[in-house]
Amino acid sequence: MSTSDSGPARFDAIIVGAGVGGLYAIYRLRKLGLKVRAFEAAGGVGGTWYWNRYPGCRCDVESMEYSYSFSDELQQEWHWPERYGTQPEILRYINHVADRFDLRPDIEFNTRIKKAVFDSNASTWTVTTDKGSVATARFCIMATGNLSTPRRPDYPGLERFRGKWYHTGLWPHEGVDFTGLRVGVVGTGSSGVQSIPIIAKQAKHLYVFQRTANFSLPARNAPLDPAKERAHKAEYPARRRAAFDTPFGIAGHPPPVKSALEAGEAERQQAYEAKWAEGGSISFLYSYTDLLINKESNETASEFVRRKIRATVKDPKTAELLCPNDHPIGTKRLILDTDYYETYNRDNVTLVDIRSKPIEEITPDGLRTADREYPLDAIVFATGFDAMTGAMKEVDIHTDAGISIREKWQHGPRTYLGIMMAGFPNLFMVTGPQSPGVKSQMILACEQHVDWIADCIQYMRGRGLSCIEAEQAAEDAWVQYNNEVADRTLYPLANSWYVGANIPGKPRVFMPFVGGVTAYKKKCDEVVANGYEGFSFGGGSDEQRSAAN
Ligand SMILES: Cc1cc2nc3c(=O)[nH]c(=O)nc-3n(C[C@H](O)[C@H](O)[C@H](O)COP(=O)(O)OP(=O)(O)OC[C@H]3O[C@@H](n4cnc5c(N)ncnc54)[C@H](O)[C@@H]3O)c2cc1C
Repeated sequence: MSTSDSGPARFDAIIVGAGVGGLYAIYRLRKLGLKVRAFEAAGGVGGTWYWNRYPGCRCDVESMEYSYSFSDELQQEWHWPERYGTQPEILRYINHVADRFDLRPDIEFNTRIKKAVFDSNASTWTVTTDKGSVATARFCIMATGNLSTPRRPDYPGLERFRGKWYHTGLWPHEGVDFTGLRVGVVGTGSSGVQSIPIIAKQAKHLYVFQRTANFSLPARNAPLDPAKERAHKAEYPARRRAAFDTPFGIAGHPPPVKSALEAGEAERQQAYEAKWAEGGSISFLYSYTDLLINKESNETASEFVRRKIRATVKDPKTAELLCPNDHPIGTKRLILDTDYYETYNRDNVTLVDIRSKPIEEITPDGLRTADREYPLDAIVFATGFDAMTGAMKEVDIHTDAGISIREKWQHGPRTYLGIMMAGFPNLFMVTGPQSPGVKSQMILACEQHVDWIADCIQYMRGRGLSCIEAEQAAEDAWVQYNNEVADRTLYPLANSWYVGANIPGKPRVFMPFVGGVTAYKKKCDEVVANGYEGFSFGGGSDEQRSAAN
């Protein structure tokens, strides 16, 4: 419990969330000597990897990259069995980290933060949990995740459905056996594409309800080659540093040297074939320099994948429906799969186009689209998340000046560097909107933010400062720059969760920073080198404050 008779429990820092970001924040802040408390809605650590237990859930960044870098002993001793980690493997790894660094004693599990209020006199945040307990701290760190608020579409009638339904982001721990059942999967984003081939193997019949066809590439997953693992480990620290010199925070892929339009047709096909055979999304997008900025160049890659789909899927009508044609490849999250397109050659799988014939209701016995009813025993909603802003807006965050995040972000998120916001002193975000977060290897992104936050707190403590806040002008300029950078790319052309398009009524604002990890990290470092440019400090003596400001 966080409340005692003598009032709220007091900490130096409160951390909301115990995914990879929150866990590293506990570790880093504790090393500074801070008394920390993390609150986690789940019953265990792991965040994404705790909740998303659907069949086929797997990382699409290679396991040697998708792991913590902060401890060389950890990265040397851990063995990843496969090229891409499965959800159970990644969860096992995160649990190992929590044990190895003894992080659990500072976490209150099964506890959701409902409210966070800033007291400007005391320069502290007070949080209230769903159990009614209260805790207070100088600093509040929101490590609440970008993809942690599952979104189920509100079709009428679900409460009358006689079968079972699931959301991929809230999967039952005991697993689900679809053997002999008629199953409907709604949604063909990453979670749908990963789970469909496996559910198809169990189900009596699988109906896939597709609104938008998405591009997917073969993962080419395989056991991790021991020689490759040894070589990687031998140069781990250098590879981690090199990752910051790449657009997506992932090292080991030679950067492209020319435009797709500078290559002849035969050369291009050969290049794309090689990338297709290699597997992985980064290497494919690295085929040419301009795939994400030039529509004509992008079309050469998009059409290559469409041709692969047509060559794989035997029924021409199904193949055509699976061909994405409303967005350039890479402008929505590029999916990696194992046998996704092949699955549509099975007799027990039917693709249903709900763009032309939308779902109208869930019936007691299934699901009705505009033209017919599909009898189902189980429905799987692979419909994604209220991405990037959902978890923050679920908490009633406000200051005693009466400003709330929900109001501030009513027309879309506004942040400075994706780390702080004007009007909300001492409130930090880990991989907040307008940082590269979801457009990068996210463990690296979490580590970079937590390191920045920890260094900032250490700086403040060294100077006796009690308060830090992003300046309005710095925030405005960063939001504008974020938008300008996005507008120079093809990203805004897609109706993706990057612009909130999967949530009806959500303001259409491009949320991640897509100027690349290198440029972003440089900016964050420069801000610090210039005495926390764009931030103002409070507390301390006049001299300390004016030196810091
Ligand atoms: C299916 C899936 C596949 C992914 N694959 C990749 C990949 O291949 N590569 C990659 O880089 N990234 C991937 N991601 C992104 C992934 O989210 C990040 O890599 C990383 O796990 C994020 O860690 P986090 O700590 O920031 O957030 P999360 O892991 O989302 O953790 C946030 C935690 O905060 C908790 N929380 C939220 N609100 C509250 C509250 N109010 N009170 C208490 N607790 C709260 C949540 O319960 C959650 O446990 C994937 C995401 C999903 C959903």
